[in-house]
Amino acid sequence: MAKKEEIVEKLTKGELKLYQVEDYTDSIQEAVEVRREFAEQISGASLKHVSNYSLDMARALKKNIENPIGVVQIPVGLVGPLQINGEHAQGDYYVPLATSEGALLASVNRGCSVSKAVGGITVRIIDDKMTRAPVIRADSIQKALEVKEWIERHFIELKEASESTTRHGKLLKVDPVVVVGRYVYPRFTFTTGDSMGMNMVTIATEKALEILTRETGAHVVALSGNLCTDKKPSALNLIEGRGKSIVAEIIIPKDIVEEKLKTTSEAIVEVNQAKNLIGSAIAGNMGFNAQYANMIGAIFLATGQDEAHIVEGSLGITTAEEQKGDLYFSVTLPDVPLATVGGGTSLETATECLQIMGVHGEGNVAKFAEIVGATVLAGELSLMGALAAGHLARAHKDLGRG
Ligand code: NAP
Repeated sequence: MAKKEEIVEKLTKGELKLYQVEDYTDSIQEAVEVRREFAEQISGASLKHVSNYSLDMARALKKNIENPIGVVQIPVGLVGPLQINGEHAQGDYYVPLATSEGALLASVNRGCSVSKAVGGITVRIIDDKMTRAPVIRADSIQKALEVKEWIERHFIELKEASESTTRHGKLLKVDPVVVVGRYVYPRFTFTTGDSMGMNMVTIATEKALEILTRETGAHVVALSGNLCTDKKPSALNLIEGRGKSIVAEIIIPKDIVEEKLKTTSEAIVEVNQAKNLIGSAIAGNMGFNAQYANMIGAIFLATGQDEAHIVEGSLGITTAEEQKGDLYFSVTLPDVPLATVGGGTSLETATECLQIMGVHGEGNVAKFAEIVGATVLAGELSLMGALAAGHLARAHKDLGRG
């Protein structure tokens, strides 16, 4: 029996684990093929498209994926020109969006054309940080309060210890420090340079906890105690922010609202109030918006961001005001974890998509954040216009159903 078939048979019989295949093959390529053949054999599926890729799997295996069998392909398209008046992004940009949702790019592109017609979307980053909040157990509530006080009094030591693990991570504060019963939840808050920073701050926080446990005798129950809050919708993140906190605004003269969005400012303001504000309040939503997750998701998939953070990027509030017939429109995204370095950004397709916007690598994350904020505004505005004009169902029928 050929070597590959033998390994597939061992996998099928449960004599070998999926992660052990590399130990029995001569190359990563061969290991990928073996696992794929195993998946085909047990399922009857043909994986000819999953097997078709150009990225360097040996490199990806080091930090991006375990047990690889190939690549999933998601169509990627381009929107723009998107005109931005940021502090870091200024001028016209083309933005790659990866999605299988028909009508999304057409909709965002309409928002881009409004940005050009009015001279740009203004964007600012209002905060920038990444957080990790372990949960620590003390012997009693009195001891828990002593641990809290120790943290507050020894910031410099915690900062020195945590920063010894990284060149770019800087501890800004440990705040809040929440006590529940005898548990203590300190939220370690860092800047992380151009990386999204989750690995960085996890390693740094662990180092700081070595001193804390040594000096206080408290016990670390878990390195993440969910007050971080990573990859879950969170009121704390909505209020305090996490990742990049971004605000974007546009003022659209009455005639351009009518020409480009086929509606009126009053109608958009009413949809925003009734849907994004009141409707979201009834539902107990944390996203007081129409579709931030659509643009965040499509940019994240195109550029190698951590896709689980789309849930955080979905938080935020859209405002719309009518001023003498003109429209003032803004989006506020308090929680957008972003990277131009590290994580999935070095995967070949992600690198290329970041390069389209001129934001790959060091020194670019602020510019990238402003492009993301403006893209979200473009998509949000267009959908709100479509809802106000009653066009939404028609656009999806035409573009989403072929
Ligand atoms: P990372 O790739 O682990 O770390 C970034 C690396 O880039 C560090 O080694 C950093 O060096 C280096 N670096 C070089 N130039 C930099 C620059 N200009 N700015 C910042 N860093 C620079 O990435 P990460 O952002 O910390 O973590 C992202 C990954 O974490 C993703 O793959 C994500 O899926 C995963 N993740 C982890 C957890 C967790 O709990 N561990 C949770 C969620 C997601 P220095 O450290 O020396 O500065």
